[in-house]
Amino acid sequence: MSSRSKILMYDTTLRDGTQGEGVSFSAQDKILLAQKIDAFGIDYIEGGWPGSNPRDMEFFTLMKDVSLKHARLAAFGSTRRAQLHVEDDPQVNQLVDAGTPVVTIFGKSWPLHVTEVIKTSLDQNLLMIKETVAFLKAEGKEIIYDAEHFFDGYKADHKYALATLRAAQEGGADYLVLCDTNGGTQLKEFGDIVQLVLKNHPDVPIGVHCHNDCGLGVALSLLGAEHGAGMIQGTINGYGERVGNANLTTIIANLHLKMNYPLNCADHLANLRDLSLEADKLANITPNKKEPFVGESAFAHKGGVHANAAKKVARSYEHMQPHLVGNRQRILMSDMSGSSSVAMKAKELGIH
Ligand SMILES: [Zn+2]
Repeated sequence: MSSRSKILMYDTTLRDGTQGEGVSFSAQDKILLAQKIDAFGIDYIEGGWPGSNPRDMEFFTLMKDVSLKHARLAAFGSTRRAQLHVEDDPQVNQLVDAGTPVVTIFGKSWPLHVTEVIKTSLDQNLLMIKETVAFLKAEGKEIIYDAEHFFDGYKADHKYALATLRAAQEGGADYLVLCDTNGGTQLKEFGDIVQLVLKNHPDVPIGVHCHNDCGLGVALSLLGAEHGAGMIQGTINGYGERVGNANLTTIIANLHLKMNYPLNCADHLANLRDLSLEADKLANITPNKKEPFVGESAFAHKGGVHANAAKKVARSYEHMQPHLVGNRQRILMSDMSGSSSVAMKAKELGIH
């Protein structure tokens, strides 16, 4: 099949996704969705931040009795507080108590955030990263290090941004994930920075975590894959803060069907539309008809000329076979419909 290396899918619908306006899951909803995401074959599921709210604590407690078939469950949290020893930090200890095989730790990459937001020194921040990663690693956890604001940090002070990654690597991080937290990074600079990091850290797999503020969340993620990122983080249907995270639903279809990357979820691609609809149902969100690949309009033909051609040769107006992602061709009736559209619609409805 393909000589490309496998890319691991990391879903943060249950954590970053819940920060989206209008998205609300109960602990039970989160369990149901985690099971759907697992059944689809996603590799990692970030379940929440146990230190941030009681619902996420409840979720991790309940998940101790739920076994996942394939996915590894991750608890998300931050580096220790500046004034505390790592072993005395309650937020860090809650990550241990969550009982997950994976912990994802985010730390600061951007001096602005270190000195102006968490108000500590640049050196202390490096210690916070290294010690938190090392402490959780010693607890037997797989550690994914999310470098928050990495691209903004890199542009402000590239030496410091790289030093934060080194601190995570020295602490024993299993993955270094470059986050475009504010979603403002452009394609060329993103590609250049990912390549540079890969050159600097040849021994640790790199991941990317993008947001869609410039409408580039999916494009940046795919570019990350092309430059060698081995993990992509995103959310089902692109839920997330502001205009959302990179849409994992779209990323998965592109990576496998268009770019030939092997994925562990590839065998379940025909369930992609179902997964998208299930997530909307649990989140109480009206499905987006125009969502690429899985939306109701993704393979809908309205113009008479298009419908006529699609009837003769589907691929004349369809970039792929809809059933590969669990979708279907639809012929829409309107004042633009010709006789072909009417005939196709009649066939679709079983009227001959
Ligand atoms: Zn994010």
